[in-house]
Amino acid sequence: MADRTTLDPDDWPALRAQGHRMLDDMFDYLEHLRERPVWQPSPPATRATFETPLPRSGTDLATLHDTFMRDVVPYAVGNAHPCFFGWVHGGGTPVGMLAEMLAAGLNANVGGRDQIPVHVERQVARWMAELFGFPAGASGLFVTGTSMANMIAVLVARHRALGLAVRDAGLAELGRGLVAYTSAAAHDCIAQAMDLTGIGRAALRLVPLDEDYRIDTAALENAIAADIAAGLKPFFVAATAGTVDTAAIDPLGAVADIAHRHGLWFHVDGAFGAMAMLSAELAPLLDGIGRADSIAFDFHKWAQVPYDAGFVLVRDGELHRQTFAANPRYLKREPRGMAGGSPWPCDFGPDLSRSFRALKAWFTLQAYGTDRMGAAIAGTCALARYCAEQVAARPHFELLAPVALNIVCFRYLVAGDGIDDFNAALVADLQEAGIAAPSLTTLRGKVAIRVAIVNHRSERRDIDALLAGLEALAAARLHG
Ligand SMILES: *Cc1c(COP(=O)(O)O)cnc(C)c1O
Repeated sequence: MADRTTLDPDDWPALRAQGHRMLDDMFDYLEHLRERPVWQPSPPATRATFETPLPRSGTDLATLHDTFMRDVVPYAVGNAHPCFFGWVHGGGTPVGMLAEMLAAGLNANVGGRDQIPVHVERQVARWMAELFGFPAGASGLFVTGTSMANMIAVLVARHRALGLAVRDAGLAELGRGLVAYTSAAAHDCIAQAMDLTGIGRAALRLVPLDEDYRIDTAALENAIAADIAAGLKPFFVAATAGTVDTAAIDPLGAVADIAHRHGLWFHVDGAFGAMAMLSAELAPLLDGIGRADSIAFDFHKWAQVPYDAGFVLVRDGELHRQTFAANPRYLKREPRGMAGGSPWPCDFGPDLSRSFRALKAWFTLQAYGTDRMGAAIAGTCALARYCAEQVAARPHFELLAPVALNIVCFRYLVAGDGIDDFNAALVADLQEAGIAAPSLTTLRGKVAIRVAIVNHRSERRDIDALLAGLEALAAARLHG
């Protein structure tokens, strides 16, 4: 049957049975996470599996699935595991996994056109506008992550500062003297956004921090005044709600006041922290976030939606649309038919073809409800306080930063100059032992063990395992 080139199976019942096995394996994985090591280094023989040449002929799906279970699953980074405390990674949920499967089955391209998947995304955007107290004209867009969301915010702010002309003329003449502000604790993707948008990293002022690792608002005022006096054009300030090092929350209301006084775009990088709004207990810590011109955040961190699911919310949806909208002949909008329903998601960002990311967030928000999601988020903060108490109660540990939300930074005390190397080695020992996985950062020149509790699955016993593991491995290092 040379004329039949479909990639669908001849034997649907066999595929169905295989599909059910694959689904069951992932349920087993999620149900028994705590029995596994968090992470383990991949053996050279396993890595070699991924260096074979381009396959000319097909392999049985069951065989590929076996390879996945044997060679991929055990050697992923392990962020679904309750003892994963590194960087800022979400844990995912079974509901999110199932929604992702449905989205892949439908294979919707959510760049635009008249289809309910676009309405699903708009509904999530309206929910987010409601959560943050944004007006009806606000716009929202799913993107890969907060890095992209921050860049989109910079582009909308650039457009507001320079007018539509910048889209044609570029920055060469118009962009001279633009300057932006964020804190020294901001994520580097803010600087990257300056780079990628052509404004340049040097145009970003990294404002010093106060005692609690928040932006020093007096220093921010001074920096803006100095730049204005020098004839420059301040246009953008990014506050952080939940810094990556210590989860510090910049004083959002005070930054909003300063931004509005000087006519700057007020952006909030709330990559994980913005989702604290889902918890009635934590939401007051974000006081002022509703005054932002734009907010960037991730559903894939504290909101536990599977990767990737970043989001940008913009107060002035029309300005946002004008920043990206184009009208090529092959994307012409029509009053009826499939080319209806304008504006489309592709009018709000650089991506044309887009996956149905909205579906997994839509399922997650509804399946659990925001009360339960907020309780899970507040639970990670309670666990961070527990961790800090346990650290404080043990004489050879030293807490290195206040616990603002869900991140605890501390170190193991050893005498002499080698303390930074010792703590770095200790974290690598613990990761390789598969017991728990914190990461490292540097705070005021001191290497810190950084425990970021983002996963809804983490419990006190996991913190106990982390600290006991650190103590045992430190003793082994010190006393052989
Ligand atoms: C994680 C993070 C980012 C980057 O987000 P991605 O989704 O990884 O692109 C930016 N800012 C902060 C504060 C973060 O924690």
